[in-house]
Amino acid sequence: MKKNYMPMEKYCAEYMRYLGVAKTERRSYAESVRILEKAGFREISTFKSLKPGDKVYRGYEGRTVMAAVIGTKPVAEAGIKVVGGHTDAPRLDLKPKPLYEKGGYVYFDCHIYGGIKKYQWLVLPLALYGTIVRKDGTKVDVAIGDAPGDPVFMISDILPHLGKDQAKQTRDEFFPAEDLDVLAWTTYAKPDKKDKDKGKDEDPKADKPGLVECLKKLYGVDEEDLLSAELEIVPAGMPREVGLDRSLIAGYGHDDRVCSFAGLQALVDAAGSKPAVTASILMCDKEEIGSMGATGMQSSFFENTVAEIIERQEKNAKDIMVRRALERSTMLSADVTAVADPHFPDVNSTGNYAIFHRGPAASKYTGGTTKGGSSDCAPEFVAEIRRIMDEGGVTWQMAELGKMEKGGGGTIAQYMARFGMRVLDMGTPLLNMHAPWELASKFDCWQTYCAYSAYLRS
Ligand code: MN
Ligand code: MN
Repeated sequence: MKKNYMPMEKYCAEYMRYLGVAKTERRSYAESVRILEKAGFREISTFKSLKPGDKVYRGYEGRTVMAAVIGTKPVAEAGIKVVGGHTDAPRLDLKPKPLYEKGGYVYFDCHIYGGIKKYQWLVLPLALYGTIVRKDGTKVDVAIGDAPGDPVFMISDILPHLGKDQAKQTRDEFFPAEDLDVLAWTTYAKPDKKDKDKGKDEDPKADKPGLVECLKKLYGVDEEDLLSAELEIVPAGMPREVGLDRSLIAGYGHDDRVCSFAGLQALVDAAGSKPAVTASILMCDKEEIGSMGATGMQSSFFENTVAEIIERQEKNAKDIMVRRALERSTMLSADVTAVADPHFPDVNSTGNYAIFHRGPAASKYTGGTTKGGSSDCAPEFVAEIRRIMDEGGVTWQMAELGKMEKGGGGTIAQYMARFGMRVLDMGTPLLNMHAPWELASKFDCWQTYCAYSAYLRS
């Protein structure tokens, strides 16, 4: 097998650029489609039929995309190979009616998306991204906080001098979710003239009309248009190298853009080849809230896309062909796992934890104490992946997320395995997963890409 992978520093620079642009699932989608089209991939509806070597993608609702290089063996016979990751990440969403006033300030009222530790989102520079859809269907994209000269946003916390009561509360209690709200506008409204005349010392009034007017000027939207918006608060700032050896990358949303991008690059590398089995990637949405919704992997998007491919390969395409293709397919569920943190040794599964700089970690199963919700990969497929990784010269490790009875997690593996596909979890291990800034090892990011590349080319 040819091992011509992109070199590590070049790959990591590309990934850091992508991560800085792809701050939301919509932006990940847009940037991924741009990269795919630049590499010659075309939207599936532009193909009447598909032949070996064709490069094709299918997107859905601007948030989920699947792309493939068509193999020499028909999909109905040989199935496909999938590297499947997600591009949504834990964050704060603006509520449908987000503007409220308190103590003279205007806040964005937020709703938590995904599993976060609330305190980690306090006193950080934050950015606002998203899309507002007007009643007539026209849309406007919002991006404030990362361009040079942009303002940022922040959630305030109490000073330690007055934090005695707060300090007695537990991590979950001390900052109620309903208070995770962002300072949006603190200029007071002009006092009423009649109050002034009476010489009354009124409490300052919040200037919500001032903020609404500002939004109107910036985006041409009314307050009511926020009812049909998808606005997300994410950490402001670009990915950075970490440590004097520059061996780590700090970034928002490594989970799971680190694996999604690795798959994307591996597939782009495969463009121009004619693999035996169709090679594909999946960059999906809503994983962090249970893979529900039209763009989550509990939807029919994946099956439908396989059906669209078969429809373009077979003269008499039938539903049974889709069923068989799904059952004959295999997948690396491309999602992150945890790196052992030396300061929290109590949660590490003895001898079975992932560490930095040893490459992507494969997990035979996820779930907590009982493997609950896990698809538990068959050893036959694990053995096949071991062989492929060896032949591809990939450094990788086998790991569990953590100790039994300490918690647990899941990925999209279970939703794909229900088709009868063989699915193994394999992804980049992270420190402080789900924190506003997560840490990944450059070597592991790079080897994750090499691993997916080896799999798609095998
Ligand atoms: Mn994930
Ligand atoms: Mn996650």
